[in-house]
Amino acid sequence: MAKKGAGCKNRAVRLGIIGDPVAHSLSPRMHQAAMSALKITGTYELLPTPAEALAGRLAEVRESYQGVNVTVPHKVAASGLLDELDQRAASIGAVNTIVNRGGRLIGYNTDAPGFYWALERAGLTPGEALVLGAGGAARAIVYELVSRGWLVAVYNRTPSRAQQLVEQLGGWAVVAGKLEKAVKETPLLINATSVGLGDPEASPLPAGVLPERGAVVDIVYEPRETRLLREARQAGLKTLDGLEMLLGQGVLAFELWTGGPAPAEAMRRALLGGE
Ligand code: NAP
Repeated sequence: MAKKGAGCKNRAVRLGIIGDPVAHSLSPRMHQAAMSALKITGTYELLPTPAEALAGRLAEVRESYQGVNVTVPHKVAASGLLDELDQRAASIGAVNTIVNRGGRLIGYNTDAPGFYWALERAGLTPGEALVLGAGGAARAIVYELVSRGWLVAVYNRTPSRAQQLVEQLGGWAVVAGKLEKAVKETPLLINATSVGLGDPEASPLPAGVLPERGAVVDIVYEPRETRLLREARQAGLKTLDGLEMLLGQGVLAFELWTGGPAPAEAMRRALLGGE
């Protein structure tokens, strides 16, 4: 991923994040730390953008930014307004990273490989996984797992969305009556719903329903240890929190913008509040 960047040598770079809201985003902290570590001069700006202003914002990006991230609620809408999409972003139907190459805006999805980057760093290798959720993040995760040879089951509160997702991207849907058995028997459980976000007592599963062995990943990162992860840790399962995926997508986005390796450890320290 590091070869075709917009290039950041010998000039100030201008990066940012488009979303609504964006004030809470940890990305400025992470990318500013990356620029400092590599002695790149530049800014990473918060770009609050209501839906009706998205096209105008993208015109500004074309004019004066090397690249931007895209977050809620624009990941799908932005993908239809760019000059080109890479194959992964086109298959997932969402972009979270845009690179400006000489005035052409190219859309990428680094949520998907960023999630996988974190999984690999945690030592998890292809096998069976159960994904909870069928929204944008779940689509990215299922796409990446399936394309890397995992066998993927998907459960979602609204069953029709899970069915649609697996028809488009692969894997199979789990119905509510079979969920508990599927959780127990699958060695990798991934929460890709928004349940737990901002609420340390909320969980997408009833208390005590956990895999009998293996690992649990929660992509929610606020709080960092969700109730699901706490219960998994207490049950002796390996756990991986959402900050690692956030870091992974940031590392891969930074490499697309700069064309060189990202300083992952400096970025992690910044996310953890260490700098
Ligand atoms: P989304 O498109 O809005 O999807 C939300 C998903 O959560 C849907 O599957 C929805 O089910 C489910 N859900 C919501 N409330 C629920 C409830 N009370 N009970 C059961 N299921 C519920 O959101 P998204 O963009 O996929 O994001 C999902 C989460 O991932 C968010 O918390 C986001 O912050 C996090 N995220 C983290 C990273 C990272 O880097 N760590 C990256 C992207 C996203 P229905 O279909 O039934 O509505």
